[in-house]
Amino acid sequence: MKNVRPFLTKHGIFSRKQTDHHRPAQQSPHVPSAARVFLSMLILSLLLTLLPAVSVCAVSAVSSARLSAADPDTDYLNGSHILFLSSYDPTFITVPLQQQGIMDCLNAYGIDCDVAYMDTKHYDDAENERLFYELLSYRFHRREAYDAVLLGDDAALLFAMKYRDELFAGIPMVFFCINDVARAEEAAALPGFTGFIEEFYLEDTLDIARTMQPEADTFLAIVDLSASGVGDEKAFYALQDRYPDIRFTHLNTSEHTHDEIFEQLEALDNHTIVLYMDAFSDADGDYFDIDEAAELLSLHCPVPVFRNSIGGVGDGLIGGKLVDYRACGYSAAQTVVRILDGEDIDSTPLVRKCESSYVFDWAVLSRFNLTGTSFPAGTTFVNRPVSFYERYRSVLLPAALIISALTLLLIAALLSGRSSRRYAAKLKESEESLSYRLSHDFLTDLPNRRSITEQLSREADGGRNPILLLFDLDDFKEINDSYGEACGDQILKSCAARLKTLEKDYGITAARYGGDAFLILCRDDRLSAEQLQHIVRDAMLSPFYYQNRAIPVLYSGGMVGSSIEETDPVERIIDADIALFAAKQENRGSIVSYQPDMKQSVHRSNEIHEILDRAVKEDAFKVLYQPKVDVKTREIVGYEALVRLTDASLSPAEFIPIAESTGQIITIDRIVTQAVIEQLAKWRDHGMTLHPVSINYSSRQTTDRQYVDDIISQLARFNLPADLIEIEMTESLFIRNSEDTALLFDRFRRAGIRLALDDFGTGYSSLSYLSYIPVDTVKLDKTMIDTYLTKEKGAFIRNIITMVHDFGMRLIAEGVESDWQVELLSSYGCDCIQGYYFSRPLDADAVESFRVN
Ligand code: C2E
Ligand code: MG
Ligand code: MG
Repeated sequence: MKNVRPFLTKHGIFSRKQTDHHRPAQQSPHVPSAARVFLSMLILSLLLTLLPAVSVCAVSAVSSARLSAADPDTDYLNGSHILFLSSYDPTFITVPLQQQGIMDCLNAYGIDCDVAYMDTKHYDDAENERLFYELLSYRFHRREAYDAVLLGDDAALLFAMKYRDELFAGIPMVFFCINDVARAEEAAALPGFTGFIEEFYLEDTLDIARTMQPEADTFLAIVDLSASGVGDEKAFYALQDRYPDIRFTHLNTSEHTHDEIFEQLEALDNHTIVLYMDAFSDADGDYFDIDEAAELLSLHCPVPVFRNSIGGVGDGLIGGKLVDYRACGYSAAQTVVRILDGEDIDSTPLVRKCESSYVFDWAVLSRFNLTGTSFPAGTTFVNRPVSFYERYRSVLLPAALIISALTLLLIAALLSGRSSRRYAAKLKESEESLSYRLSHDFLTDLPNRRSITEQLSREADGGRNPILLLFDLDDFKEINDSYGEACGDQILKSCAARLKTLEKDYGITAARYGGDAFLILCRDDRLSAEQLQHIVRDAMLSPFYYQNRAIPVLYSGGMVGSSIEETDPVERIIDADIALFAAKQENRGSIVSYQPDMKQSVHRSNEIHEILDRAVKEDAFKVLYQPKVDVKTREIVGYEALVRLTDASLSPAEFIPIAESTGQIITIDRIVTQAVIEQLAKWRDHGMTLHPVSINYSSRQTTDRQYVDDIISQLARFNLPADLIEIEMTESLFIRNSEDTALLFDRFRRAGIRLALDDFGTGYSSLSYLSYIPVDTVKLDKTMIDTYLTKEKGAFIRNIITMVHDFGMRLIAEGVESDWQVELLSSYGCDCIQGYYFSRPLDADAVESFRVN
């Protein structure tokens, strides 16, 4: 069935997509009528089961109706071969929709379609264009000429116009979604070119907005100074003559700060219709992506915010008339079909309108009491609550149909007692389609767990022992939580697409093993486990994008080489899983090869997991406090809170990494934080001078969204100031430099909680990030002290201390055990010391009586 082989390069992806050769079912007059009814019901029920059960289904209804309208006399088109040249990459919001429309149309005719992505959203330079050109010419030399080329968006059209003689001579070219009208007109005048201009439905959106806000006398467009923002502003003012009774004005976000923008919006009332066109930046240079902008606008704007282009509807904007990219792809492909069918391309006119539909967010409509508006037929509503019937329709209807079909089949069999060969063939076809679905994952179209396990058994039966690589994405839940499930799905699909590229070239099979886990099976004896690792690494190397935004995606893997003699397929997968577990625990982001002794350590890890679970239930943790001492005054300036099991059966070095890999650390650190705050209150009540206590923060805790708020409310409960708490974080969190972590640091800082960089010197070689991370203190790790704190190498430590001071931060040296270390550090200007030399970690009671010697 579907066979996609994208070929990934540094600058783009080239994929071979073979369409379904399965032609639309044609009814034969010889098939018994009851059986015919059965077949249509079975096919219908399969279709219904496979259609996604979402409420946004207006488009799929249109497409499937057209699909079934394929002309049975166009059989000779079957096997034609066209190329879809996209300006972008498959993660850009419009591309999957365009592609879906194209495939919906071409599948019905049995036309094959290759796809090549220029990826100009990320690499819009001459170098990319050159590489892309070379790649295409290489491919073109190795294959027969395409029967036609589809060009999606402006960059692809520009490319095709530039290289039409070298690459595309004599091939019909159909372009679509073109914004630059002059370019589209110029192209349409060239021999062999025709296509569609992309129109933004500004007027229709403004018209429907007026019916929803009849008292409005002003249109306000929100734009910025980017090229598209300026273009949008022009298009907006061009409509002024059409609405003589309405005042046109705009808000250019690039000229205002955050607060000014919100102030202006908050002052609006029902007399203004607000249209969000293209605005992503403000005067402070802050950049918002479209969902953030939509969310902020909906928070600050007391009237609905309309939209005439894709994005933001569903994230706070009310909606409007939007281009239907799937239908655009469908229409362009339909034009190709007509041309292949004999229509003269040079007489095919340029089309100036493109398919569109009204899309509104039901939640926003409800918020503004606008659900009663009379919407045009075919309007799509997102976020509309679904009824029980709607929710389960996809299951109920097929079930009912299958039962009726089987009943009819029984009756037919009883009545006729004979079956035709054709009928049997049709049944076989349906069975095959069903079996494909049962063995493939619906989201990624990769073989599923059952299918890959069966394949592995077949390999074992044939005496082969292929290499296995099981890998899964690190913190995938965090991606879903931070960017939404649609983003998670897109990442999984992109991973799958990348893995599929490897299938043909290297004879490997990739399957979706479940959730965010993929299993790769390599039967090629010439490929070593190391080579497979490299190949997979390369495939996963380039960034993943969702809605034009790079999403950090890391993964860990477990590998079982062919030298591992285990032949039972299930056991082999378990071995790969064990290696994956080791990778997650010891070296996230790496691929680890299975070693038989790992079973032992997994067993131990499981035991520790259980011990920790029990300790949480039985309140069996305690906190020790290790003093931090000022080098000059020799006074205590703070403590670090360090967790222990009350029975001391395990050291933190043993259980913290496991708690981190299982996520139990989130609960444990909640317990520690609570204990520290209660302890500070006790010490205060005992009349002690209070010093800040630092608490270790694990990178797993970023998913604990309530953590900061909880510290704030606990502190308030005990009436303690926030600067008594310091949070120690490691480099990995700061380096991640994502919007989420920036927000997290900001929340700590706003609350008055200090931040410290822990274990400095253990990770990254670059120190430059010290210049921008928001910490008060840097803690130099014990390994740095042990390695470099000598008379010969000490200059290195001294330079670090000077640099940290230059950035306005304090330096604490950890793990200091002897007096000469203290002396040397003191001569280098080190601020504080935490180490056994002054004190080991102490019980809370011992802290009260502790004095520095
Ligand atoms: P860390 O945050 O770097 O903590 C300092 C570690 O160094 C502590 O080990 C401390 O006992 C040890 N240490 C301090 N001075 C000396 C010295 O002079 N010599 C030697 N040999 N060791 C010294 P500990 O308590 O075993 O903790 C190990 C790690 O476990 C900590 O490293 C921290 O990353 C983690 N950890 C401990 N408690 C917690 C906690 O409550 N939450 C989280 N997330 N992690 C924790
Ligand atoms: Mg620490
Ligand atoms: Mg440390």
